[in-house]
Amino acid sequence: MQRRKFLQKSSLSTAAVLSSSILSTCKNEKAKAAAPLVANAIKPIVIATWNVPNATTKAWQVLEKGGNALDAVEAGVKVEEADVDNQSVGKGGRPDREGHVTLDACIMDQHGNCGAVVYLKNITHAVSVARKVMEDTPHVMLAGEGAEQFADEKGFEKETLLTEKSRMEWLEWKKESKYEPVINIENHDTIGMLAIDAQGDICGACTTSGMAYKMAGRVGDSPIVGSGLFIDNEIGGATATGQGEEVVKTVGSFLVVELMRQGRSPQSACEEAVNRIVKGNPNFKDIQVGYIAINKNGQTGGYCIHPGFSYRVYSEYGHENIESNSYL
Ligand code: ASP
Repeated sequence: MQRRKFLQKSSLSTAAVLSSSILSTCKNEKAKAAAPLVANAIKPIVIATWNVPNATTKAWQVLEKGGNALDAVEAGVKVEEADVDNQSVGKGGRPDREGHVTLDACIMDQHGNCGAVVYLKNITHAVSVARKVMEDTPHVMLAGEGAEQFADEKGFEKETLLTEKSRMEWLEWKKESKYEPVINIENHDTIGMLAIDAQGDICGACTTSGMAYKMAGRVGDSPIVGSGLFIDNEIGGATATGQGEEVVKTVGSFLVVELMRQGRSPQSACEEAVNRIVKGNPNFKDIQVGYIAINKNGQTGGYCIHPGFSYRVYSEYGHENIESNSYL
């Protein structure tokens, strides 16, 4: 839907709620109290890092039919995992410096249950393996060979994740082997998705192939519950993209949710989480991190260090890509 139509439709709706939510979220806000839970909270709704219309549309289709938020976020991020043109998640992801594509993912439901896989090879849908870890094991996280063996037992198909395109780029990179993460070279990275279903329950998922040409064995923030993703069904949810080490050091997504608990809006909470990374870090200009968040009322926010990060929101009021405000 075009922005103009989106705005028109929005203005006809529950304006009081919406005007302080989706439409205002890309503005720089100072800390302010989160609205108390309102009867006309925006739900269902889905929000995702980056401009991934196919993924949010898929999630929306689940929500629209009355499906639950967990199924919605899983179905949504799976779209990107299967898309070989998206070189930052799933099949087609860029490899580590040894040429291996290794995936990290996690998922979290409204009850606080979570599952994660790290350093998973040969399986496209890391998020679905993470969901199986959550639902079918007493554990939260499985890594490497164990994760792959588990996926095998659960009937996941093994595939070669390294595409010719990613392989050729890696061979090119190897000529110099210079490890320098490039900021926003394309309009996607980790795909983090948060959804509220018609029942008002919040769930989230996060999936990535990690930083391109990372050291073998490196794991980022994305599969670490509290860093790359966090959900508290009473408060809201948050998810991250960008340089995972910085997110892990500040337990970023948990921080965003806790700030919302203390009364911050999603926008203000994302800004403060970015500020924590920037503060006292002489190298912050070399780093990109972006957060998105949603609260129980369906109000959303996003913030990042460098311009260039955007996020996508889809609710009954329309769907739109929102350019995030940035620290720089
Ligand atoms: N957050 C991911 C990681 O550090 C990568 C990214 O979003 O660019 O693995």
